[in-house]
Amino acid sequence: MTTRVAETVLSFEDALERFDPTMGLEVHVELNTASKMFCGCATEFGAEPNTQVCPVCLALPGALPVSNRAAIEATIRIGLALNCDIAEWCRMARKNYFYPDMPKNFQTSQYDEPLCVEGYVDVEIDGETVRIGIERVHLEEDTGKSLHVGGSTGRIHGADHSLVDYNRAGIPLVEIVTRPIEGTGAKAPDVARAYVAHLRDVLQSLGVSDVRMDQGSLRCDVNLSLRPSPSAPLGTRTETKNVNSLRSVDRAVRFEVSRQAALLAGGGRVTQETRHWHEDTGVTTPGRSKEQAEDYRYFPEPDLVPIAPDVAWVEQLRATLPEPPAARRSRLQADWGFNDLEMRDVVGAGALDLIERTVAEGASAAAAKKWWLSELARRANNTAGGLHELAISPAQVAQVQALVDSGRINDTLARQVLDGVLAGEGSPEEVVTGRGLEMVSDEGALAAAVDRAIAGDPAVAEKIRAGKVAAAGALIGAVMKEMRGQADAARVRELILERLS
Ligand SMILES: [Zn+2]
Repeated sequence: MTTRVAETVLSFEDALERFDPTMGLEVHVELNTASKMFCGCATEFGAEPNTQVCPVCLALPGALPVSNRAAIEATIRIGLALNCDIAEWCRMARKNYFYPDMPKNFQTSQYDEPLCVEGYVDVEIDGETVRIGIERVHLEEDTGKSLHVGGSTGRIHGADHSLVDYNRAGIPLVEIVTRPIEGTGAKAPDVARAYVAHLRDVLQSLGVSDVRMDQGSLRCDVNLSLRPSPSAPLGTRTETKNVNSLRSVDRAVRFEVSRQAALLAGGGRVTQETRHWHEDTGVTTPGRSKEQAEDYRYFPEPDLVPIAPDVAWVEQLRATLPEPPAARRSRLQADWGFNDLEMRDVVGAGALDLIERTVAEGASAAAAKKWWLSELARRANNTAGGLHELAISPAQVAQVQALVDSGRINDTLARQVLDGVLAGEGSPEEVVTGRGLEMVSDEGALAAAVDRAIAGDPAVAEKIRAGKVAAAGALIGAVMKEMRGQADAARVRELILERLS
């Protein structure tokens, strides 16, 4: 074991025997509005650096901001979906600090007057419901992005110069802050992960964000502290920044529990600080110390009017809320007749939408699940993108099943049809024609093949005549081989038994 205190950890199990974790999760979500929060600049991801900027988001002297109505509406809808109260009146504030990728040297944010407060969400962990309190949902703007050039790590240390891209500066950002999450014990990592996954589903169903953790449009900060027992005062917390995948949320909680427990068990103390998460090594390292409370010199933004949503507007927005994800899952499960385990597989594979759309195109739920979760999931495993990126649509999957149902192809041939569609050979119908996959329905050709198989294996034929029907398998196999799989095996069996009875 290394002697460097920062890297000493206790096993997660040992840590939990001695300490009780408390978490706080702060999720930042970039809204997918067409324009920025306070100006008309575009917000498209991945554009050439500094091509989506203007005097307002570059903070040139004299430029004045105007609030984006769509961003305010999206924030209110998020608040309503998280069971929050919506403020009748609130203001933006200036949060003053210096950072090179923040052109104004202050961030326009919300401080003591958030737009949404006092909500909650219920998340499911192993069939048990855990209620997580939402302290606030507020609106702010994103910063630009620094790029440190010349070093090996991409961090400022060791770099020889830095570049700044302001395209992201001013994109509307919503921050969702939980109340302290206590009493979860060993389930803390699962709860954190389930909460972020739940939030992602809710935000996706609202259509307010791309919620792409890999692109940074959904980012999570994990606050964590330990105390000797649930009745002790809260311990000193650390804030691990920018944990950017669901798996990392789980791992970051686990690592901080183990690291803080080792410190405390060794008689040390936890430093209040922000920490960096390292996806590759699964550890956190110290960032900015927060031992001295930072003074952001907040004050109300004088260049913007207050936000005062009236009751009618809020109710109008409430009427636009989609069915909550958990309710939708229950409804679909009942419609489809899946058991809990099957439904968990579907959700886990990210196939809920795909199956819903395939069923809407006429396939049965069982067939839709079969193709997406077995054949197509296996093909998706070999690619980076997952099921949604496969070059086949729910309508095409439904068409493949319709071909099976009509008896024109069987399941084995259907797999080849899927391959053909994925390879860009056209619609399922076109692949069947192009590859010559249609089953032989010509009874004459089938009967001739059956006769040849019987003649080719008199011993087996004799057994079947003697009543050993199970022996028919060998002859069916021979016929199917001759027909290159393009025959209805059940019909072949019938023909064989007719002839040998
Ligand atoms: Zn702008």
